[in-house]
Amino acid sequence: MLYIGSHVGFNKNSQILGSLEEALSYGATTFMFYTGAPQNTVRSKIDLEKVKKTKEKMQELNLDYTKLIVHAPYIINLANNQEEEKYQFSISFLKQEIKRCEQLEVYNLVLHPGSHVGLGKEKGIHNIIQALNQVLKDSKVTILLETMAGKGTEIGSTIEEIQEIIQGVENKDCIGICLDTCHLNDAGYDLSKFDDLLDEIDRKIGLHYVKCIHINDSKNPIQAHKDRHENIGFGTIGFDLLLKIIYHKKLENIPKILETPYVDRIFPPYKYEIDMIRKKKMNFNLIDQIKNS
Ligand code: FE
Ligand code: FE
Ligand code: ZN
Repeated sequence: MLYIGSHVGFNKNSQILGSLEEALSYGATTFMFYTGAPQNTVRSKIDLEKVKKTKEKMQELNLDYTKLIVHAPYIINLANNQEEEKYQFSISFLKQEIKRCEQLEVYNLVLHPGSHVGLGKEKGIHNIIQALNQVLKDSKVTILLETMAGKGTEIGSTIEEIQEIIQGVENKDCIGICLDTCHLNDAGYDLSKFDDLLDEIDRKIGLHYVKCIHINDSKNPIQAHKDRHENIGFGTIGFDLLLKIIYHKKLENIPKILETPYVDRIFPPYKYEIDMIRKKKMNFNLIDQIKNS
């Protein structure tokens, strides 16, 4: 089965059951969500009854609950400890987020490694490793480090940086990687040589660490260090390359998650993009169709 889905909402009333409903309306077989707004730390109590219902519903539909993904809020920054209070806040919030994932029974948590904000890469990486070793001590959840575009002082835009962090993490069962196609492109990786990239990841880290892929086209050329996502087939990566990644034999059972922009900031494109991916055929009228739907 192709595990394809998108980022979906999560609200305090319908919770994960509402997230599933949204995903199903797009024809998705998996999904990713934030347990609250991505830019803040307001979080509601997890409703265990909704978790149970979601598991039952997915079982009925023959969908695999273990493929679901949570994304940690991006205000967590484990790389910068210039202000001890903020660093400790990031660590304790991440610990709470892991607890929420355990209650949700979603065991894959995507995390941006962090930005060093002037401390330098080495110090930043050291801070990330220290923090991860604290939060992963008795975790049932695997943290997936996302490959970043290299915007500003972001860490994790090279395979070597991800490798260095993973090498420093003691609990290797609870660490993994989330590839993001837009970020890889913007970081300088040529996705037309994707097989070479997979070989490099396998050599330096191990391909089995890759547990999620964010599928996004990019608004910018390779190595732009920008991080602006584009709709599938409308960016610089293009439909054919993204399709090759989505259907790659070595990545067969890994969930693929779309984080492409809403059309005119209002219309979610995911139903149309998923349809295009299933049909393996580019739809150049996609944007107009979405606007007129
Ligand atoms: Fe992300
Ligand atoms: Fe991403
Ligand atoms: Zn991004």
